[in-house]
Parts: sequence; C-alpha cells; structure tokens
Amino acid sequence: MEQMPIGLMVHVTDEVKTALDKVQALGIPTAQILFVVEDWLDRSKWAKAAEQLQSHAVKVTAMFVGFAEESYADIPTIREHVGLVPDKYRDARTEKILVMSDFAKTLGIKELAAHIGFVPEDRDSPTYKAVRDAMRKICDYIYDNDQQVFALETGQETARALHGFIHDCNRMNLGVNFDPANMILYGSGNPIEALDLLGHHLLSVHCKDGKWPQQPGTLGTEFPLGEGEVGIENYIAKLKEVGYTGPLTIEREISGEQQLRDIARAKELLERLR
Ligand code: MG
Repeated sequence: MEQMPIGLMVHVTDEVKTALDKVQALGIPTAQILFVVEDWLDRSKWAKAAEQLQSHAVKVTAMFVGFAEESYADIPTIREHVGLVPDKYRDARTEKILVMSDFAKTLGIKELAAHIGFVPEDRDSPTYKAVRDAMRKICDYIYDNDQQVFALETGQETARALHGFIHDCNRMNLGVNFDPANMILYGSGNPIEALDLLGHHLLSVHCKDGKWPQQPGTLGTEFPLGEGEVGIENYIAKLKEVGYTGPLTIEREISGEQQLRDIARAKELLERLR
C-alpha cells in the first residue's frame, strides 16, 4: 500500500457493498467501516458480507464497532451509554466484541476500533480496573484471531489518561485510532501536543476538524476539514514526524450532499499535505 493513502469512515446501514460503493464513488482507495454490533451477531450474514468486501476495489483498513444503545447527544449521555466504561453494559458488550472479532477474521480485517467511553482518571477506581480487565480479555482473544489489534478512539479523555490506560492494560496489540477533532470537541487537550505522548501507539488516524466548546462541560462543534481549530497542516506534519505512514481516514459526521462535498474537499486538502 502507498504511504498515507486517503481513507473514509463509513457506516454500514444495509450492506457492506453499499458503504464501499460510496467510498469508491468519491475516488477514495481505503475505508474504515462502522458496524452496529447488534446487527451483525448473526453469523449466517457473514459470508455474504465477506464476499462483498473481498471482491471490492476499496481496501478496508479497520472495523469500528458501535452499539445499538449508544448516543452521542451530549456529554452526560455519552458517559452513561458509550462503550465499555458504563458498568451496566460492560460484560455483555465485551462478549459482543469477541464475536465481532470472529466476524473481522471472516472479513480479513486485522484492526478493530471503538470508543470505549470516558476512561476514568482515577486508576484505583473499581470501574477503571474493570474496564482494564475487559480490555485485556478482548486483546488476548483478538490476538488469537490472526493477531488482530485494537484501536482506542481518542478524545473523550486526556492523552495522559489514555496513555496511562494503555500502559496499565499492558498488551502489545492495543493502540489508538487518533482523532484530533475529538480532543477539541470534548475539551480534552491540544491534539498536536497529544501526539508527543500517543505517537508511538498509533494504529490508525481520523482526519476530522472542529472548534472548542463554548462552555466547559459541553461539546464543541465539528467543522469541515481545514475550517476548524485542529490545524490540519500541523497535524499532518506531526503525523509524519512521529513516523505514521498508515491511512488518512476522513471522518465527516453529517449526511447528505453537504457531507459528500466536504469529503471531496478534505480529500483534495490531504492529497496536498501528505
Ligand atoms: Mg473519529
């Protein structure tokens, strides 16, 4: 694969082929695919998905896993419903991720990724230890599935907290999917500086932009790539500095014609900067 190929984050709403056709129509060679886990636990659906994925020109570089009850409406809702951090969801979701690892193996995808929720800052808290143990269980299981790796989406906690968590999990196949805009949207720190700490743990990255929250405790606002406060030129330069050569996966979390226009412009911008 060429260095820093452009990629696109797409959601599977019906079939894998539909999602990848969208990527291909934009002239983008790679994709990360988000699957809502509960739609794909039925193994009888996997062979058709694998056939569509493996015969498609677009190369899939990661499987993102999302859960049916997740909502990103505001910070309290995210705390309550996203990922492995909420106690009420953890055990069941851990088991579901193991099934998705089997699905990824069937598809030939080597990287799984997810938001696991706001990792607690207190490393002695029972929730922190329980999330760490769940993460270890996932890493050990997926390693036995073609040595898969797991990428933690950045941004809901500080880079220091995430770095500490990766260290405490102590698994070689655990790293990050770095999203610079999330650091800004959640008010969790300067993304370029965060790469000094997390640069050695990059498995993949998102190219997304945004502006800081107006008030503490609220979410910032996503903007088209190059129009927010990430500083995309500095971001790409920093990725090169830390030795990252993987896909530059564009993420634009709106829909419709405007999304397609923004993605096309983001692609042009990245092709100039990479
Ligand atoms: Mg992202």
